[in-house]
Amino acid sequence: MGGSTPLIGILALQGDVREHRRMLEQLGASVVEVRTTADLQGIQGLVIPGGESSVMDKLSRRFGLAEPIRWAIDEGLPVLGTCAGMIMLAAELVDGISGQETFGGLDIAVQRNAFGAQRESFDTSLRIAGLDGPEMDVSFIRAPIVTRVGAGVDTLATLDDGRVVAVDNGQCLALAFHPEVSGDARLHEVFVSRAREYPPMP
Ligand code: GLN
Repeated sequence: MGGSTPLIGILALQGDVREHRRMLEQLGASVVEVRTTADLQGIQGLVIPGGESSVMDKLSRRFGLAEPIRWAIDEGLPVLGTCAGMIMLAAELVDGISGQETFGGLDIAVQRNAFGAQRESFDTSLRIAGLDGPEMDVSFIRAPIVTRVGAGVDTLATLDDGRVVAVDNGQCLALAFHPEVSGDARLHEVFVSRAREYPPMP
């Protein structure tokens, strides 16, 4: 039922699950927190929250979630990843911990903790390609940046110095920042519209 109330999974092993849940529910989606493979059943989209990508990687492998999530992404499941979630979607990871893996889904390279100690966290506003209205107020928290954008991937936002902080391939939307923290729902809305059109996972 690709109905008007899509069921969205939030990977809930670790990270800022609650902020995403609030935003998705405001947009009229139903939410399930994904901790086991059974929780994937029926979802029409997946959010990978901010948090710590190395921990998400370890826990998703330990709980047998990594392979089913890779499969679902290969099949076309719409995904929104913020910060650590962006890292989990990258085909290529720079400055991961030893042995750290990602789910992939986006042909990009991402560098973890790219802002260093001095600018660990900061707020700014960004123009986002494809969105009408004002710039988006966003928070960067020990954020990654995208260091390579592959074929078929669009850059949605860059910092003033040109560094890429938001990308999309029409299925996987990845943001280095946290609109779920700063409260602008426009990119979540893009994702929820995709999920509405996607058939529930078997
Ligand atoms: N630095 C974190 C990581 O490597 C990401 C930080 C965040 O999600 N806010 O996963």
